Amino acid sequence: MRKKIVVGNWKMNNTIAESIELATEIAEKVGTGIICCEVGIAPTFLALHEVGKVIEWSDIRLSAQNCHYENDGAFTGEVSARMLQSAGCSYVILGHSERRQFFGESSAIVNRKVKKALAEGLKVILCVGETLQEREAGITESVITGQVVEGLDGVSDISNVVIAYEPVWAIGTGKTATSAQAEEVHASIRATVAGLYDATAADHLRIQYGGSVKPSNAVELFSMPNIDGGLIGGASLNAEDFMAIIKAAC
Ligand code: PEP
Repeated sequence: MRKKIVVGNWKMNNTIAESIELATEIAEKVGTGIICCEVGIAPTFLALHEVGKVIEWSDIRLSAQNCHYENDGAFTGEVSARMLQSAGCSYVILGHSERRQFFGESSAIVNRKVKKALAEGLKVILCVGETLQEREAGITESVITGQVVEGLDGVSDISNVVIAYEPVWAIGTGKTATSAQAEEVHASIRATVAGLYDATAADHLRIQYGGSVKPSNAVELFSMPNIDGGLIGGASLNAEDFMAIIKAAC
């Protein structure tokens, strides 16, 4: 039985003080002893260390939203996986469509990041997703398969990997994939992973759905057999909504 995982991606929102306030509110709601689902929050880099201290007593895991593929060196403005470890992160989100779209991250770059983050002991949330044009052209499955295969190239052990399926057309748009649309892609990702690794690895792999998940649609999405929780953007900025989504996973 896979344990569901719900992670809040705060994106470029909240100052350090605001992040601490929101994290405190969420930690009070989540507390300890949540056994039905793993919970994480991904604040801005700047707030990671402070937020880590605020949530330390709770079951919430600290996640970053990105990292570089080298540990140190002349990479102005970048943050490494080793630095994230030292800030208290357990997870890092990699290959988010906003990174791919706005910052030119190819699957090859995402793959280098995945390998470095895993080598540094971080767990990885590898994001994949098709654009609206790709869906309309009927190539969703091949696009997603390509992103999964390239993202995991050279990764021998996927026990510390979570895949997040996030259709680009559903992120921050208020349009959610139907549970049937999402389930179809999740099942195909699991089949791809079974082919790349084996049936056991595929069965253990958690695949989150992301794209306008809200308290009102979370129960239905999370009840699908291959949907193991969610990567939550907008709704994770409100502690009550985020908590309602966590409860939907239980
Ligand atoms: C995301 O950024 O990962 C996301 C799913 O955003 P939203 O929930 O706002 O669509």
